[in-house]
Amino acid sequence: MATAPADPPFEFFALRVLRTDRVSPGFARVTLGGDLTRFASGGRAQRFKLFLPRPGQDTPLVPREAGTDWWPAWQRLAPEERAVMRTYTVRDHRPDAGELDIDFVLHDIAGPASGWARDARPGDPLTILGPNRADNGGVDFRPPPDTDWVLVTGDATALPAVAGILAWLPPGTRATVWIEADHAADLQELPTEADAEITWLFRDRLPHAIRRAALLAAVRDSAFPPGTPYAWLAGEAGAVRDLRRHLVNERAVDRRRITHTGYWRRGASEEDLLAEAVATEATA
Ligand SMILES: Cc1cc2nc3c(=O)[nH]c(=O)nc-3n(C[C@H](O)[C@H](O)[C@H](O)COP(=O)(O)OP(=O)(O)OC[C@H]3O[C@@H](n4cnc5c(N)ncnc54)[C@H](O)[C@@H]3O)c2cc1C
Repeated sequence: MATAPADPPFEFFALRVLRTDRVSPGFARVTLGGDLTRFASGGRAQRFKLFLPRPGQDTPLVPREAGTDWWPAWQRLAPEERAVMRTYTVRDHRPDAGELDIDFVLHDIAGPASGWARDARPGDPLTILGPNRADNGGVDFRPPPDTDWVLVTGDATALPAVAGILAWLPPGTRATVWIEADHAADLQELPTEADAEITWLFRDRLPHAIRRAALLAAVRDSAFPPGTPYAWLAGEAGAVRDLRRHLVNERAVDRRRITHTGYWRRGASEEDLLAEAVATEATA
């Protein structure tokens, strides 16, 4: 039987809520603390898995000692007992203070994670499966060396990643960024040393007819800078798919220069998406 490497790049961190902040109508920032000494964010769009306790549980049930084998170990746990698992992004990591911020979109369809964030109180427990080295597979913003300019698009769920990408980009990097959010009050300062042109699209200011395709319409109507781009697209799965098609079919962007991720899908919970992925893998 294969054994897990002694030093896997991810591990479980049992944490607690230190404080919460309603940063804007659409977002709750939850600051977590605990033993984060081994936590090492790669910056940019650093993703991780978040595990929430089920009602009546003191702490989330996860296969803590499993290392790289956590996934099969997780699947063996009883679905009604194992923690609720979701995927989120590091908004900020302050190693000196031992603090980690997550920005949760407070979407209006009841979901365990957004509901948890809305009601979170200091002391509430949660566990994350996060990186223990900065160079890890949970960072997917990786422009090839010959990139002349960077195109970034995302909805509110991708805003923490977009913030991380902008903070990371080397000084002077040419970047064109579109962000879609619900309300003008959701606008955030996004510090960067890049030469970035950032455009916000606020859904409450858009006509109903184009709300679902606002990012696509904005990108479609824009003139691209000269040179070779690298594109990073994240947000609702259908919107991301349409944007990628536009770049490949109408702008002739090499598909190998596009990183695209559906962060959520209309009408499907993360369990639904995971079940679909597992079924696809099983039939492949
Ligand atoms: C790599 C990655 C990084 C992510 N980072 C973040 C992050 O930093 N912050 C963040 O807020 N989200 C982030 N997301 C998205 C988040 O994981 C999903 O929105 C997730 O579905 C929320 O879980 P939930 O329990 O609230 O809703 P679920 O139980 O998963 O879904 C319940 C219902 O809500 C709908 N729904 C889910 N999300 C939204 C939404 N944003 N708007 C409207 N309806 C929605 C679903 O379609 C479903 O009908 C990330 C996703 C990925 C894959």
